[in-house]
Formats: sequence, C-alpha cells, structure tokens
Amino acid sequence: MTNHTTGWNFDNSYARLPHSLFTKLDPTPVRSPELIILNEPVAASLGLKAEELKSEEGAALFGGNQIPDGAVPLAQAYAGHQFGHFNRLGDGRAILLGEQITPSGDRFDIQLKGSGRTPYSRGGDGRAALGPMLREYIVSEAMHALGIPTTRSLAVVTTGEPVYRETELTGAILTRVAASHLRVGTFQYVAAWGTPEELKILADYAIERHYPEIRSAANPYLALLEEVMKRQAKLISQWQLVGFIHGVMNTDNMTISGETIDYGPCAFMDTYDPKTVFSSIDVQGRYAYRNQPPIAAWNLSRLAEALLPLIHEDSDQAIEMAQDVISGFAALYQSDWMAGMRAKLGLFNEEEDDQSLFEALLDMMQDHQADFTNTFQALTFDTLEGSSLFRSPEFLEWHGKWQARLGRQQEGTEASHQLMRTNNPAVIPRNHRVEAALGAAEQGDFDVMRRLLEVLSTPYAHSPEQKEFANLPPKTTIPYQTFCGT
Ligand code: AMP
Ligand code: MG
Repeated sequence: MTNHTTGWNFDNSYARLPHSLFTKLDPTPVRSPELIILNEPVAASLGLKAEELKSEEGAALFGGNQIPDGAVPLAQAYAGHQFGHFNRLGDGRAILLGEQITPSGDRFDIQLKGSGRTPYSRGGDGRAALGPMLREYIVSEAMHALGIPTTRSLAVVTTGEPVYRETELTGAILTRVAASHLRVGTFQYVAAWGTPEELKILADYAIERHYPEIRSAANPYLALLEEVMKRQAKLISQWQLVGFIHGVMNTDNMTISGETIDYGPCAFMDTYDPKTVFSSIDVQGRYAYRNQPPIAAWNLSRLAEALLPLIHEDSDQAIEMAQDVISGFAALYQSDWMAGMRAKLGLFNEEEDDQSLFEALLDMMQDHQADFTNTFQALTFDTLEGSSLFRSPEFLEWHGKWQARLGRQQEGTEASHQLMRTNNPAVIPRNHRVEAALGAAEQGDFDVMRRLLEVLSTPYAHSPEQKEFANLPPKTTIPYQTFCGT
C-alpha cells in the first residue's frame, strides 16, 4: 500500500525528542487482522482514503502487521499517580506510529492500542479485547458529537488471537487519533528521572504543539500550567454537564492538550447522584462524579510540581507562583460550569441567585432519583410528567422561579428553547445500550453498534428515532459496574 493511494503523510516530531522519552519498536504482528469498523469521517479529515483502508492491507496496517511509509513506531514513556500512588509507567500496550499531517496542516498522533508488549508492559500482555476497544470507539465518538474535546477512534480490528482476562476474549486493536499523547504523567516522568534540559525540551515541545500563542509570554512555563488548567477546567465542566464519569482520573490519563483520553471504566450517569462511581476498582470513590473537579485540581498540582524548576530558579518562589495559579482552578471551573448550566436552562444573562437556582434543581433531582439527561430533556420540551420530581410541590415552586427568571431576560421563549436544545442532549451512550451493542458485537453482529453510533452522532438533533434511546435501563438492584482489566 503506497502512501500516495492511502494518504498517509507522517511526521515524527516525538521521535526527535530525547531518547529517554520513548522506545522505538514495531507493533507485534497478529495472526489474522480483520477490520471491524472504520471511521470514515475521521479518515477523511485526516486526508486518508477510506476505500483504500477498507482493503486487506488496511486491516494489516491497523493490526500492526504492516508499517506505513514514513511512520517511526515507538512506545512512549510516562509516569503517573494511580489512585494517588506514584508509578513509573509508559505505553504498555500501545504504539505511536507517528503524527499524521492533515491536508489542512493539523498534526494528529496515530496510535495503535492493543498492539503487543513493550518495555513498559510490566506484567501485562500488551493486548486488548474487542469489547473494551469498541467501548472506547463508541464513547469517544459520542463525546466528540457532544462537543467535548476527546481523542477520536479511527478503526478497530480483531486480531484473530484470543486474549485472556477472566475468560477467553476476542483480541482487538483500536487506532486512536489524538492532538497528542502528552500527559501530566509525561512531565512527571521527566521531572523524576530526566535531566533539567530534557524537562525544558519537553515543555517547549508541548508549548509549540498545543499553546504556540504563549511562546513569548514573560514566563512561558507558568503560562503553560495556566493554559492546561484552563482547558482542563473547561473539559471537566463539560463532563459534569452531561453526567460523564471518567472512572480513572490518574495523572497518566490527563492530557496536556485538554482532550479526554483513555476510556476504561467510564460511564454516563443515569440517576442523578453526585456520589456515583462505576469503576469496580474504585472502592473509595476517589473518582466519583462529584470528585472530578477537585481531582483535576489535584492532578494539575502534580503538573505544577513537575514544572517547578522551569517556573523559577528559586524553588520557594516557584512554589509560590505555581500555587497562585493552581488556586485559581476552583473559580475557573465554577465559572465554566455556571455558564454551561445557564445554557442548559435557557439563560442568556447572569443573575446573582443563579447558583442557588441550579443547586436547588440538582438537590431535588437527587432526592427524587431523577434521570440526569431526561430531566433536562423534559425541561427543554416542557414535558414535565412521569416522574415524582415533577409532581412535587418544591419542584413546582422552583419551576415558577425559573420561569420568572426566564421572563427577566431580553431574549424570548423561542431563543431560550433553542439554547436548551443545543445544550441538552437527546441521547447519551447509556450503559445498557453500550452493553447491548458490545454483546452483539462479541457474537459477530455489528448492526446494533452501528445503529447506536448513528443515533449518538447527532445528540442535539432530537429526532423521533432518538426517542427510544432515551429510555432508561430496566430497574435492577445490582449497581452498574465497569471493569478496568481491559
Ligand atoms: P490505564 O489504566 O489503561 O490507563 O493503563 C495504565 C498502565 O497500564 C499504562 O501504562 C498501560 O499501558 C498499562 N496497561 C494496561 N493494560 C495493559 C496490558 N494489557 N498490557 C500491558 N500494559 C497494560
Ligand atoms: Mg492510561
């Protein structure tokens, strides 16, 4: 397969960084790669020809059996605080092929996930199973459609080899597309085991790649911390506003670009409860819904620590400057979240009591175990029925206040309704739907997944076909759990 026909156009800037940051190595070939799904819009935006990639050679490429011209495959080194404990990590089952330069001149990492063991695999087999890779595909594409920054999914292939978890599973590889794979943990790695020069090179690289506008700031490294914080505050507010729970907000799973990364035991909340946690290994609830903003701030403090030597030569001064930045997180997050809540409730302007108006609604939703997404749907379309929440006197009182609040702004009812339509999704990837799609896929039926992907691709369309996807899962006494051993 020539690059001329497929459109690969690689650069390898990461491979030009200090060698301690990665290990060059090829993916481990697999027995019989078979293309399960190709993301044609993503392929097109990357300048790739979908028709060519749907061939046998495409499967060989996404399976790691064939390296496209111009790629310099490598596994990245990084570290990370996992549930609060600092560990030396790295791509244990992923290979970066290189950076695709798109026809419009943008640069995206192309990474195979599940592509075999690397020097960073520790005890792991370097492989991935079909279910979790399709799960990442579905949820990351849903996040993108919701307007939330995220890595994308280009393709999933099965490998023709089994993987062994608790049971034997179908092996698979996901091709992930990311603005970059730089993580908070990449900085932690260099701060812990690299030289001061390497740290500076890495920081300059991150600035060049993601924040070129701060190149000439008075203190570019302090500005880097501030810019990453701004993007993360905005990102986490967007998660909260759709009820997304990441599940493993370790510092190695937090990007410098501000994209959501690493869809492991993530899930969307149905019933509103700030304590919601899905991950089976998160017994303490460290990464519960309500903890996501403070955990983001904690992770950013780890980034700040790593950057200290670059921020100021005097370490006391550096700490003071970094703390000054980090202390701004809560206000920044709050302001992003408030703006998002205003939009969800059709509000264009700000009023002093807005926060208490929003919190009162959320408290009632919690008391009445209301569904997060569907409550905002009902408010958007004024279909206030079918839930104990809407019949309660306290809700009726709140509704009166909200209506009065809407009445005090210039914009009319129709404008508010439009604002709400575009900020309250009709569909989210509900757990029972995702599980159904994965279950069918395991049996070789990919139609359920395709239909789900279709519906999730326009979450603000509010089309008739989306109605059934708003349905809640059958009530069970067993809490939904997601598993990390992917
Ligand atoms: P995660 O929890 O997916 O963010 O992964 C944490 C670390 O474990 C990363 O360094 C991964 O590369 C590594 N890892 C996860 N699964 C495997 C596996 N099956 N084989 C080797 N390494 C893995
Ligand atoms: Mg990870």
